[in-house]
Amino acid sequence: MKIIIGNWKLNHTKKDMLDFLGEFLPQIQNINNIHIAIAPVATLLDAAYSKIQGKNLFLAAQNVFYEDLGAFTGEYSCKNLLDFGVTYCLIGHSERRQLFHESDEDVNKKVLACLSNNITPVICIGESFQDRNLGKTSEILSKQCANALKNVNSPNIVIAYEPIWAIGSGEVASEDKILDAMAIIRQNLSKIFTKEVSKKIRLLYGGSVNNQNIKDLMLKCDIDGVLVGGASLQVASFFNMVKTMSLLGV
Ligand code: PEP
Repeated sequence: MKIIIGNWKLNHTKKDMLDFLGEFLPQIQNINNIHIAIAPVATLLDAAYSKIQGKNLFLAAQNVFYEDLGAFTGEYSCKNLLDFGVTYCLIGHSERRQLFHESDEDVNKKVLACLSNNITPVICIGESFQDRNLGKTSEILSKQCANALKNVNSPNIVIAYEPIWAIGSGEVASEDKILDAMAIIRQNLSKIFTKEVSKKIRLLYGGSVNNQNIKDLMLKCDIDGVLVGGASLQVASFFNMVKTMSLLGV
């Protein structure tokens, strides 16, 4: 099934979220051919969970720590996320890598922690504008894939290709660039897993996705879904994207 995940980042209070869900849930109630998820601020997961249980909306966390418990002030673990029925967890978003100095090694530990707790990691990878201009895109994507997936043998992972220069910039990556990136990622996955297993891994695109470009992205870019930031914050725009994806079928 295709996947659409709304990454709310540090946006929306509890009231905003409850208003959002009050409007959004009835609109999507008959949409069962795609997987829809939202990633609210971690403190909202509890309230979100009570609204969405048994519904066709899934929860994603924006981050997690890799240890289960201990002296790690300020952190929360996969076990904590399981209390709120979290299905997906974003790992290694470029904002976390850049602003919070998350390394490939941290990303790998977080991926392994998610997998051992039955949470699907959505591993975010992508090149910077500078890397792309230096012709390093393939090298960066290959390195990020290999490092994130050390000792991983489960295909229950999602990879989100998010070129850093396309995030929040209004500049969606072109079809050619996305197709190239998808091919690079698939090639790396088939080195890490078998070719058969690698085909089962879902690849998303993220970076300035909106209702104007989602149809072309889904039809032309060999992707299994999208990770959406800014355009997922308002019900109307998120629902329009969900509807477009659902109408395109699986
Ligand atoms: C994101 O933050 O993952 C993202 C894709 O953001 P935006 O859609 O706003 O570019």
